[in-house]
Amino acid sequence: MSFKITILGSSGAVPAYGRMPSAQFVEVQNHYFLIDCGEGAQIQLTKYNLYLHRIDHIFISHLHGDHYLGLMGLLFTLHLNRRATDLHLYSHKGLDEIIITQLKYSKSALNFKIIFHTLTPGVQEIIYEDKQLTVETIPLSHKINCSGFLIREKEKPRRIDKTVLPEGLAYTQILALKAGEDILDENGNVIHKNQMLTLPPRKSRSYAYCSDTQYYENLLSQIKGVDVLYHEATFTTEEKDKADETMHSTAAEAGMIASKATVGRLLIGHFSARYKELTLLRNEAMQHFANTSLAVEGETFQIEE
Ligand SMILES: [Zn+2]
Ligand SMILES: [Zn+2]
Repeated sequence: MSFKITILGSSGAVPAYGRMPSAQFVEVQNHYFLIDCGEGAQIQLTKYNLYLHRIDHIFISHLHGDHYLGLMGLLFTLHLNRRATDLHLYSHKGLDEIIITQLKYSKSALNFKIIFHTLTPGVQEIIYEDKQLTVETIPLSHKINCSGFLIREKEKPRRIDKTVLPEGLAYTQILALKAGEDILDENGNVIHKNQMLTLPPRKSRSYAYCSDTQYYENLLSQIKGVDVLYHEATFTTEEKDKADETMHSTAAEAGMIASKATVGRLLIGHFSARYKELTLLRNEAMQHFANTSLAVEGETFQIEE
């Protein structure tokens, strides 16, 4: 089962040098999520042949324009494409007002229903859950209420070892094996021990998206050991004063967070328009955490099982 992240936008604040504002498309076990929706997100989705119509959940980290201004255009496209299924939008307080006002003055009623979910500032909370995975918020430290998102797969079922499976087992017995149970006869005696016929589950993967934030060690415990961490890296160390003033991070700080949280891989993004070349930002992060990549438009990062 795939778990992959495609970068639609990597620019902080304004588009620059062909880089677009923040947006990421995440595909995990047949779920299709959009995380942040900067200007042009729908155009980027089309450009990279991603399934706009299959997105049922959109997570907005905060209400600075570079993280949500692509939303209205995307909603109208879904409407014109005759979407009928509900769309869930998660954000801090105010997004419903923004959207409803725009619909009101264009005298538009969407074909589909939007279900607004309001995030609680400063609190880690599970905002989405099903049989396969959870999405929880990561409180960040920025100029306005801002939350990252942590997508975690739940523990997976044990895998049937076909090489040792006896013939003639009933479907219910196979299900019992997958659930980790032994196979019993009608008197409750064990016929087959689960461990003999199954292999351990595949690993549960995780992705943490930490958008706009200053260097913030409070998030370390929550993101400890995730497979992939996206962390903003707006500035180089030379612009540390600017980072502090605007409550953003330097690339070196993103590297420090990745290192302290012992993550598997670091993606950096939200680059300031002052940098045409991004190599220096990557190098500064790599001084603290070697496995760092630039989260630039069109790149897809896969997490293996
Ligand atoms: Zn931003
Ligand atoms: Zn911001």
